[in-house]
Amino acid sequence: MPLDTLVTTWAQPDPAALIDRVHREMAAQELAVAARPGPALDCDTGIGMLRFRCAPEGLRIEIEAEGAGNLHMLRESLCARLDALAGQPVALQWEGAATPQAGLPPNVRIARVLARRRVTPRFLRLRLGAEGLAPFARSGLHLRLMIPPEGRAPVWPRLGENGRTIWPEGADALHLPAYTIRAIDAEAGWLDVDIFQHGRGRTCRWAEEVPLGAPVGLSGPGGGWLPGGSDWLLAGDETALPALARILESAPKEARGTCLIEVQSPEETQPLTPPPGVTLRWLCRDQGDPDLLAALAEVPLPSGPEAFLWFAAEKTRTAQARQLLRAAPGVEKRQRYIGAYWTETHS
Ligand SMILES: Cc1cc2nc3c(=O)[nH]c(=O)nc-3n(C[C@H](O)[C@H](O)[C@H](O)COP(=O)(O)OP(=O)(O)OC[C@H]3O[C@@H](n4cnc5c(N)ncnc54)[C@H](O)[C@@H]3O)c2cc1C
Repeated sequence: MPLDTLVTTWAQPDPAALIDRVHREMAAQELAVAARPGPALDCDTGIGMLRFRCAPEGLRIEIEAEGAGNLHMLRESLCARLDALAGQPVALQWEGAATPQAGLPPNVRIARVLARRRVTPRFLRLRLGAEGLAPFARSGLHLRLMIPPEGRAPVWPRLGENGRTIWPEGADALHLPAYTIRAIDAEAGWLDVDIFQHGRGRTCRWAEEVPLGAPVGLSGPGGGWLPGGSDWLLAGDETALPALARILESAPKEARGTCLIEVQSPEETQPLTPPPGVTLRWLCRDQGDPDLLAALAEVPLPSGPEAFLWFAAEKTRTAQARQLLRAAPGVEKRQRYIGAYWTETHS
């Protein structure tokens, strides 16, 4: 698919200082792989490039991505950051790819719940049907579900005149949890999401109760693609299981390494088929198996250009894992995916 480009200039007295600031933020949050050609900044976000340059009139920003959806998502997140930097909404004139200014945002689809199946005692699989799913089959493993408020007709996000997304608010606000696309057949018009029934969330209840045929919004895709390299260390809890399952199923046959998955009990394990060089180890909490981080610390870290480190779990454990995995020698940021998939709130 050809790449689309959007360009704007933000009138600013000191664009070089702004570029420094954006670079520092991105580095701190590991949001993108950045390069600094001179006073400029190039960021590879995984779904497209952001390029920042000093221009006589201010900060010149170029967004390059494949497809209207990716372009829109990049512009949305960039504009939100610029608004935060400025402390108020920033009005920018964009040139380049034609961008729609009404209707559904190009990264949004309205799906219907086609089927529900119990995969294990605590995992439900929902099959969601929609048109135009091709972009969801590449460049990002994840999406956001857009679950309408109970008992109200859904109000979906729409584009404003400036091309930015207007989200429904108040009683119409949507619940927007992130989920992994466990499987997808874009041509047939469906994708599967596996929903862990942790028992405390709105999505758990919705997944149990939503009538077949009910609408649900999908926004995405995003959040990282399949790992590169062939020397892997993969680990996560139940929320990471759908992504790990998809990664193992799509792994190149030469992949080797270790995959650790922590679940509550042996009934929660799934029949996954890693390539022969990858050892899959299930850690069952109720069997006294080592905790995910303890087990991770025991595995030798892969190193060098073929290494890939992948971890996702609760936020605090993810921060601990990040410390551990950063020690891998000769592993660059683009060779790591470390995600906080949920936050313990003790509610
Ligand atoms: C990129 C990405 C991909 C993800 N993919 C999947 C996936 O494929 N399948 C999946 O099941 N989850 C996945 N998750 C995790 C999921 O988004 C969170 O668990 C989310 O909080 C679920 O929303 P909710 O409406 O159930 O709960 P929320 O409304 O977010 O939270 C309600 C309460 O539930 C608690 N809670 C949330 N998650 C858990 C949990 N796992 N265990 C115990 N308590 C919890 C919170 O602490 C809070 O107290 C993913 C997250 C990310 C960021």
